[in-house]
Amino acid sequence: MRTIESLGDVSGKRVLVRSDFNVPLKDGVITDDGRIRAALPTLELLTSSGAKVIILAHLGRPKGEVKAEFSLAPVAKRLGELASAPVHFATDTIGTSAHETVAALPDGEIALLENVRFDPRETSKDDAERETLAREYAELGDVFVSDGFGVVHRKQASVYDIAKILPSAAGLLVVKEIDSLRKATEDPKRPYAVVLGGSKVSDKLGVIANLLTKADILLIGGGMAYTFLAAQGHPVGTSLLEADQIDTVKGYLDEAATRGVDLVLPVDVVVAPAFDADAPATVVDADAIPADQMGLDIGPKTRELFAEKLASAKTVAWNGPMGVFEFAAFADGTRAVAAALSEGSMFSVIGGGDSAAAVRQLGFDESTFSHISTGGGASLELLEGKVLPGIAVLED
Ligand code: ADP
Ligand code: MG
Repeated sequence: MRTIESLGDVSGKRVLVRSDFNVPLKDGVITDDGRIRAALPTLELLTSSGAKVIILAHLGRPKGEVKAEFSLAPVAKRLGELASAPVHFATDTIGTSAHETVAALPDGEIALLENVRFDPRETSKDDAERETLAREYAELGDVFVSDGFGVVHRKQASVYDIAKILPSAAGLLVVKEIDSLRKATEDPKRPYAVVLGGSKVSDKLGVIANLLTKADILLIGGGMAYTFLAAQGHPVGTSLLEADQIDTVKGYLDEAATRGVDLVLPVDVVVAPAFDADAPATVVDADAIPADQMGLDIGPKTRELFAEKLASAKTVAWNGPMGVFEFAAFADGTRAVAAALSEGSMFSVIGGGDSAAAVRQLGFDESTFSHISTGGGASLELLEGKVLPGIAVLED
């Protein structure tokens, strides 16, 4: 992967940077600026080298239309507070404001352009449409730095097409993410354990096929566990269930057995009659979930079992909470996995937006994990062994 050094001296040059500023907003206020902070090292490196930095970024899903609630204006304000260089905001992406802002931009300063997804061509499936837009972006810069890790699995104009037009390289965040995730996926120190959970069950089942060829230990919790329990013939009450995936999952159970992968399912679960913070919680064996109850967390025996398995691992990748951690009564499973990684000396990588949020919300010190990824979908696709278009385009 080409790095910023490959671009040579950037002093006085217009450097287009793709950043991931897709932050959560509530009533126009940024509730977690983690992604803006994660973008700073690359921006500081470039501005301190005397580059004119022009940032392309998106926020939310405006679906190709200009919508005020998806404006990057609040991000421009926060970035201005966090960056050491002055930040100028263009009120369009490739229009008059963008051209004027870039033309007037002094060396060592930053211009943030408005949401790239206000233009339908950004995410178009039509290669020619995306390329036309990328050529318009290219008029604003001399070189391109790809640093939006959260979008590198997308074949989009500001991620992929632009990198084919201008001299391009990976930014510091993308390099750090790829290094960490490759360390945990390509040639991991063994035993290699993967913990999967969360609620996007069908999305994540695809990962398992690949992991069965790589991991030594596979711990399954969260909403995904119930499709596995059902595949073993157990009743799962009103728990999350992907009934149409049961046959596929039976195949995974067989393959794990054939390959000698230690696939571990919950032995007990915390159930409740409703998806509610105040619902009365009880612990039942995993093969005895009552018909009118749903599993909302892994139980105490499972927490202990998972912690034991994790303690034996040298590499752990974790994606997806073990239960509905947003409700205090169902957060212990997620807390137990986080604690095992936080206290352990293994190489640990956490991917997934909610998993990362859970670790922070439960009060763990982020520095006690080897790496917390800023990209959910991108990190999952790396676990899956997929080639990411936004990375492939930066390889020599
Ligand atoms: P990530 O963002 O880390 O990839 P997901 O988006 O797949 O994770 O899932 C996160 C969500 O999964 C959380 O909001 C959590 O409440 C939910 N979840 C975890 N376990 C269960 C469960 N047993 N039933 C329903 N939802 C669950
Ligand atoms: Mg999520």
